[in-house]
This record gives sequence, structure tokens and C-alpha cells, in this order.
Amino acid sequence: MSRAAVSAELGREIGRWDTGNPGPTLLVTAGVHGNEPAGLEAIGRVLAALRSREAPLRGRVLALRGNLGALAVGSRYLSRDLNRGWSASAIAAIRARPAADRSPEDREQLELIESFLAAERTATGPVLFVDLHTSSAAGSPFLCLADTIDNRRLGELTGVPVILGIEENLAGASLEWFADRGIAGFAVEGGQHTSAAAVDNLEAVVWQLLVRLGMLPGALVDIELHRARIREAVGTAPSIVEITHRHAICAEDAFCMQPDFANFDAVAAGQLLATDRNGDLRAPAARYVMLPLYQELGDDGFFLARRVGRLRRWLAEWSRWLSLDRLLVLLPGVRRDPDDVDTLLVTPSAAGPRLVGALHLLGFRKERERSGHRAFSRRRSRVENRRL
Ligand SMILES: [Zn+2]
Repeated sequence: MSRAAVSAELGREIGRWDTGNPGPTLLVTAGVHGNEPAGLEAIGRVLAALRSREAPLRGRVLALRGNLGALAVGSRYLSRDLNRGWSASAIAAIRARPAADRSPEDREQLELIESFLAAERTATGPVLFVDLHTSSAAGSPFLCLADTIDNRRLGELTGVPVILGIEENLAGASLEWFADRGIAGFAVEGGQHTSAAAVDNLEAVVWQLLVRLGMLPGALVDIELHRARIREAVGTAPSIVEITHRHAICAEDAFCMQPDFANFDAVAAGQLLATDRNGDLRAPAARYVMLPLYQELGDDGFFLARRVGRLRRWLAEWSRWLSLDRLLVLLPGVRRDPDDVDTLLVTPSAAGPRLVGALHLLGFRKERERSGHRAFSRRRSRVENRRL
């Protein structure tokens, strides 16, 4: 059977459960990476259970397959990572390409966008996007999300640790498409690719969302079982961390991670993390290791993160509610982008660690270079997300 025939057989939609009651749309994607079938099994279990119990859902669940061609052959992707290239400019470039020049992933992406737009068009309430993944490294499951207060609140409902500062710095994940529109959402890393626990964890996340968002009566699900699964998988990992350091690599670096690091492993200042052609790479301070690279391909060797305590969480919420960014622009070297209310331009000499810390607290985490300035942007969240 040809690859195209297998893809056609799989179909874009995994399934949906919609009894016509108005409410939120839980929009799930699974298998955006074709070597990660755990998400498909997890959401498949949820849909089958909803169907067999004729669950009186408020709102609807809609689940889509990600990379059909790659799923058919069980590889991460065919020609490029489908979880990249979701910025507005990257999508415009795909659309501008003649159809014959588009890669398999270009075509999958345009189809997915059509499905996302259709879901948005037919929604009777706010949309929550959840993208199910698994990873090569061991350790606790975790969520990546754009740092809005709504996303933090929704992520915390799952009991799975939240990582701030990855979504904004890994350019072009599908989350970006939703974040650009102010739609709530997160990606879940459920566990190691082939582990049974990863399926259980991803399933538990979906059930907890359905119950805790009030979409499903709690009595219909053994929610305590799913909570216990998450608690066991999370172990001692902190509930929110933020990235403080990204170690970018290129092929010439001869980067080699020290063996046996797992996500959320605590490391001491000075501890050896990896080596490259320049010698040892050591932790600059006591931190948690995130996303250690043990596969061949990748642009990031590892990330370091620190715990975000209760006080910083409370400060983030209140400083944003009070729009304290209005005070930041009074500081020397800081001004608002005249074309974009969500971007602050900072002269490099003014961008010390305290100012950058304040910017992050206020959600201005997406950073890039712009005409000699450092530009920091924040994500928006639609007003309707508060009803989730
Ligand atoms: Zn993945």
C-alpha cells in the first residue's frame, strides 16, 4: 500500500464527541510527530469512553491527527518537523509556494490550519487547544505554554508541572498559531515515547481538564485514579519552573550531554552537564535540567530552569492585572513599540538582569533583535478564556 493510501485511510479526524450542548471546545492534536503514537491512544480511549457512556458533555471534544504521512511510517517527520513553521510569516511563505513545490509537511500544515479554523468557526464557547506529545528523555511529564495568566491557570488544573519560557523561545511550534490569536492552549509531554505510562498520563490530563473545566460531571469518571497517576508520574518536580538558560548548539560544537539526565533533575552550581569542542559545560547555578539532548538532531543541547514560587506567581498575576508595564516604559532605555502595544523595545545597555526579570514577570518573554534594540513581546489572551 502506498504511503498516500495509508494516510487517506487514517484520516485527519481521530474523533469527536458533541451532544449539541453549548460550551467550550477542547481541541486536541496527537501525532504531530509521527513517532509519538501515545497521544492517539490516549485521546482514543477518552473518546471511546465518552461514546460508550453517552456522556452529557457541556461543549465538545474534537481530536485531530497531526502528521498523517509520518504516522503511517512511524517516523518523526518526512521532510521537516511539523511542529515548526507556525509563525504568520512562515505560513505566508508556504502559501506563496506553488503547490507542486510544497513538502509533505507543508500540505499537512495547511490542512491542519483549515481544521483549526473550522473548529473556531463552529465553536459555541471558548476554545482550549491541547497538543499531545512524548519525548526521548525520562522524567516527569510537563506542559509548555505561552505565559498568560489564563494559560497558567488552565495548565495548573492538570497537576502537571508547567514550564515557562520555552514556548516563546522555540519559534514556530503549533502553539504559536493559537497564541497569536489569543486562544488558550498548551502542549503536554506525557513521558517516554514507548512507555505505557505516557499513554496513561496523557489520558489523565484530558480527563482532568474535562472535569475541572465543568464540561463533564465528575461522577462519570474515576477522577481520583487519574489524579493519582499524575501525582505518581510528577513525583517531586516543582509545579512551575521558568527557563533561565538555553544552551543552543550547532553540529560543529561536537556537543555531548553527560549520560542519564532526566527532565527536572536538580543540579548543583558547577556540576558537569555536557562537553563540547571547547571543553566542559557546567551549571552556572543550582537549577533543574530540562530537555537534555540525547538524540542526533536538535538545536538545543539543554535548558536550565528555576522554580517559580508562590510569591512570584502572585506577583505575576497582580502586576499584569494592574498593567505595571505602563511604569516600565518610564524607565530610561525602555519604550513601547509604536506599532505593537504588546512589544517593548529596550536599548541593550538598559537590559540588565533586573529589568529582564521584571519583563518576564509581566509576560514579556519572547525576545528578539530589532534595529539595535532588544524587543520583548507578550502574549494576549482573549477575554472569553476567563470562562474556561
Ligand atoms: Zn513531539
